[in-house]
Amino acid sequence: LIGCNTAAPTSESRLKLGTNITITIHDTVPRGIFPDIWTRFDEIEQKMSINESRWDDTELLQVNQAAGDHPVTVSDETLLVVQEGLRVGELTDGAFDVTVAPLVLLWMVTGSTPQVPDQERVAAARELIDYTRVQIEGNAIYLPEPGMGIDVGGVAKGYAAAEAARLLREAGVNHAILDLGGDVVALGTRPDGRPWRIGLQDPTRRRGALMGVVEVIDTAIVTSGVYERFFEQDGVRYHHIIDPFTGYPTRNELTSVTILSSDPTYGDALSTGTFVMGLETGFNLIEELEDVEGIFIDEQQRVFLTSGVRDSFRLLSDEFAVSC
Ligand code: FAD
Ligand code: MG
Ligand code: MG
Repeated sequence: LIGCNTAAPTSESRLKLGTNITITIHDTVPRGIFPDIWTRFDEIEQKMSINESRWDDTELLQVNQAAGDHPVTVSDETLLVVQEGLRVGELTDGAFDVTVAPLVLLWMVTGSTPQVPDQERVAAARELIDYTRVQIEGNAIYLPEPGMGIDVGGVAKGYAAAEAARLLREAGVNHAILDLGGDVVALGTRPDGRPWRIGLQDPTRRRGALMGVVEVIDTAIVTSGVYERFFEQDGVRYHHIIDPFTGYPTRNELTSVTILSSDPTYGDALSTGTFVMGLETGFNLIEELEDVEGIFIDEQQRVFLTSGVRDSFRLLSDEFAVSC
């Protein structure tokens, strides 16, 4: 069996970036690769988190604290993630907005005692959300009004996935699966050269229940959904994807959006942005854009596939129906 890789896959998991991350290498495991990746994730978190209970002096917390007062110089990678967020802000007409921090902090969907905030406070926070007002000069970021704030929670996990994939490739790994709690990168092919088969979460069922499967090679599969982080009050579910135009958690016909792309950073921002845009506008945008495909699921369990993913998607649950 010369040249035939028969090694069993090697897996490691850690809780990082507020989510459970698993990396599975179906290849020779390069020395020190797992610690290198975990360190990389820690560095990203220490620069970009705005979760003050874990970090009190990240670059983005400094940017937010200096809003209306002075610019703050950030690292190249923080700048890159913010700029990717701004670019997708343009593409989605502001449905994706990296300045959503005041609303995210107000809603605190993942906090210990989340509750629906007062209408006036929502309206006041909404006034502060506008990605077009972010000023960048060199590596310095300036937010022109006190109270404004950047939150890269909708895009930085994708960047972390891209960094992990880069480290694996540079170390010579050709077959691996990265799972960052809903953001998956299928690196290369299966060891036998065939495409990976990636399961898609059924948005109506427990974690791990699949509604479909997609066959991919070297692709990021990133999902935004209503079922991941939410709380309930008076029988209404409030989740963590905020509509910048209303100030409230997005409520439309969608239950999840999965974006397939070669770049997980882009895919992460696009999945959140098109989720906010809704089925028709979001779907049409993904169909229009080069190098990205989408799987949209609505409340009636209908599945909408952009043209490039129709041949590689297969339904597993008979409670769903493919509409196009
Ligand atoms: P996505 O759909 O990809 O993103 C949703 C997130 O994007 C929201 O949670 C919000 O942060 C932001 N967002 C909401 N609406 C919009 C909008 N309209 N436009 C743009 N962005 C929007 N979680 C913890 O529980 N504890 C932590 O300590 C923690 N630290 C983190 C540190 C970093 C650097 C990162 C990147 C994430 C961290 N997280 C943490 C997770 C984070 O809070 C988000 O919940 C997570 O990134 C959401 O990812 P998702 O794929 O589930 O959803
Ligand atoms: Mg996202
Ligand atoms: Mg995501």
